[in-house]
Amino acid sequence: MKSLEHLKKVDPEIYQAIADEIRRQEDNLEFIASENFTSLAVLEAQGSVLTNKYAEGYPSARWYGGCANVDAAESLAIERAKKLFGAEHVNVQAHSGTQANMAVYFAALNLGDTILALDLACGGHLSHGHAHNFSGMFYNVVAYGVDKKTEMLDYDHIAVLAKQNKPKLILAGASAYPRKLDFKKFRKIADSVGAYLFVDMAHIAGLVAAGVHPSPVPYAEFVTSTTHKTLRGPRGGFVICKKEFAKKIDSRIFPGIQGGPLMHVIAAKAVAFHEALTPAFRTYQRQIVKNSKELANALSTKGFRIVSGGTDTHLFLVDLNEKGITGKDASSALEEAGITVNKNLIPFDQKSPAVTSGIRLGTAAVTTRKMKEREMHKISELINQAVEGSDKPEILKAVRIEVLELARRFPLYPELKQ
Ligand SMILES: *Cc1c(COP(=O)(O)O)cnc(C)c1O
Repeated sequence: MKSLEHLKKVDPEIYQAIADEIRRQEDNLEFIASENFTSLAVLEAQGSVLTNKYAEGYPSARWYGGCANVDAAESLAIERAKKLFGAEHVNVQAHSGTQANMAVYFAALNLGDTILALDLACGGHLSHGHAHNFSGMFYNVVAYGVDKKTEMLDYDHIAVLAKQNKPKLILAGASAYPRKLDFKKFRKIADSVGAYLFVDMAHIAGLVAAGVHPSPVPYAEFVTSTTHKTLRGPRGGFVICKKEFAKKIDSRIFPGIQGGPLMHVIAAKAVAFHEALTPAFRTYQRQIVKNSKELANALSTKGFRIVSGGTDTHLFLVDLNEKGITGKDASSALEEAGITVNKNLIPFDQKSPAVTSGIRLGTAAVTTRKMKEREMHKISELINQAVEGSDKPEILKAVRIEVLELARRFPLYPELKQ
């Protein structure tokens, strides 16, 4: 890892927290679907002196002097993102995915307007209308869910809800939906009621960039994303829109909801977009999905029910009801064994969000460590042992040792080990 010698001297407590976190990331198997490991190049850009610079405004139109270098960085980020996604306009300043979404709502809607979005309990995101999020406070939210039997989106039903509620905006995108989204169908539904189509591709942006999942960009007026999930960049967000909304989106981000942009993060986003334009990134994204399918398959042969019967993406949900354990208990047992996942509601879950009947697993992070199908197969056995032995410390300990051995064979930053 990058030398932290100054930090160690100045602030040993924070140094210790970071050193411990490096160790945690190296020694555990990361299956949280929204996480990934950036390249060292991304870390270097983000840890750079660009954090010192104020640059309110946009390239060549700033409120501060001395912006030539950050202008160059932001312009590269914009051009690369446009090329990567075939976008007409991109704003790379959103501090997070949620703020990217806020900019779209503020650009497209008036307070109190109706939106149609995926229910949180069926895989939607907080910023898609949750009662305790600004989206749920400011707008009239109608939720669509998944079909009870297939656990997949029922587009005919979404069309009916659209006809009944006449939303001004239809939102597609999810945090815990394992299947492909059909943007053509969403476009048709939006057109049938004169609504905007807004796609939040936060989770699948890497797959989209690599052509492993269809792109929403040709279909939607607005597309938002994070940069830190499958896209493997720094923590942050961005907005893609059609040309006619470019000015509005830019002014909603700044001065609408943000002050100075995080230029060090924007430079790191540019690096991530650059990496995503390479053939190696396409190979990486294809492997993520292969690993996800392999792990889901292997778990299902061990008696785990996979929600919707499988996955088309980097993630899937496991229904633990037949294993007689809650999502909460399974995720703590797995953590004890060195496998990091999150508890997650499954569609029509009878348990509370704090307990849940399921866990969510994603393979972007372990695939960054170069693990392949073979390792997924092995990990399915380790997961099964930990879940079945969740109340037996000696079993969890034995699994922990095997996890450590596997993790050490796939170092986080092999460049640093030479
Ligand atoms: C992760 C996620 C976001 C938000 O990202 P933050 O950067 O944490 O605000 C938004 N939408 C979806 C669908 C997500 O999965």
